Amino acid sequence: MTKIKKNMNLREEIISALIKAKIPSPRMETDIILKHAAPEYPEISEQEKQTIMLMVSRRSRHEPLDKIIGEKEFYKSVFKVTGDVLSPRPDTEILVEEAINLLGAKKNGIVLDLGTGSGCILLSILQECQQLQGIGVDISAKAIEIAQINAQRLDVESRCTFINSSWKELEIEKESIDVVVTNPPYIASAEIEELEEEVKSYDPKTALDGGKDGYDCYKEIAEIVPEILKKEGYILIEAGIGQSEKIAEIFENKGLRLKGIVKDLGGINRCVIMKK
Ligand code: GLN
Repeated sequence: MTKIKKNMNLREEIISALIKAKIPSPRMETDIILKHAAPEYPEISEQEKQTIMLMVSRRSRHEPLDKIIGEKEFYKSVFKVTGDVLSPRPDTEILVEEAINLLGAKKNGIVLDLGTGSGCILLSILQECQQLQGIGVDISAKAIEIAQINAQRLDVESRCTFINSSWKELEIEKESIDVVVTNPPYIASAEIEELEEEVKSYDPKTALDGGKDGYDCYKEIAEIVPEILKKEGYILIEAGIGQSEKIAEIFENKGLRLKGIVKDLGGINRCVIMKK
């Protein structure tokens, strides 16, 4: 039988290891690690302690905590995450809120998420709007697997379909989509190396790299979206810092109208809303 003993000092040990590794919120993260790996702490088994030490050494190398514990809170739910998907960011929650507002009281129709990753945007919207159907597209088959698991966890899988495809090859019926949402890769290739370790080494490059100037994916999306949107349909696009006006221009050049640019909680112009 596994030996259970009290270990009152472990919390302090973990905190100092994380401080040494320059982890920004060492106490909060220590408590998350303990809660996750040793729910009865300070009572702890030898095996739980080993799991914790492994987690602390991974975190000390700046692997993000959500990827170590395998889940991340986003909007109103907890999502499974792995190294195959971009970790959901609080900045992205504004897309969910705006999409729900736009869907209005009827809240039915079809929402398409381009580059769905963990599925956090699409599935959060589906969870709020019970009449809605969703389609999530991703070029990564492994990301689609995670999104499917999250759909089951949130109990919305009967209302969503996932497609493993590039945007260029995507086959969607013309004028069939009410709202498109997307958080595409938008970091300029040369800037990826300057990002923090947590992002550049642990988020998939395919979810970050937006080509030479960061706008490649916005341009690809602007090629396909006007045709598949219903008349009066919307697209909500996540923007990187300083990108919102140029994004609006890219979509205006394809015939869509700018309806608004919404700031995230940090005051950054984050969500570009365009209407057909
Ligand atoms: N928001 C992410 C970051 O700046 C990037 C995600 C993306 O390229 N869509 O770390």
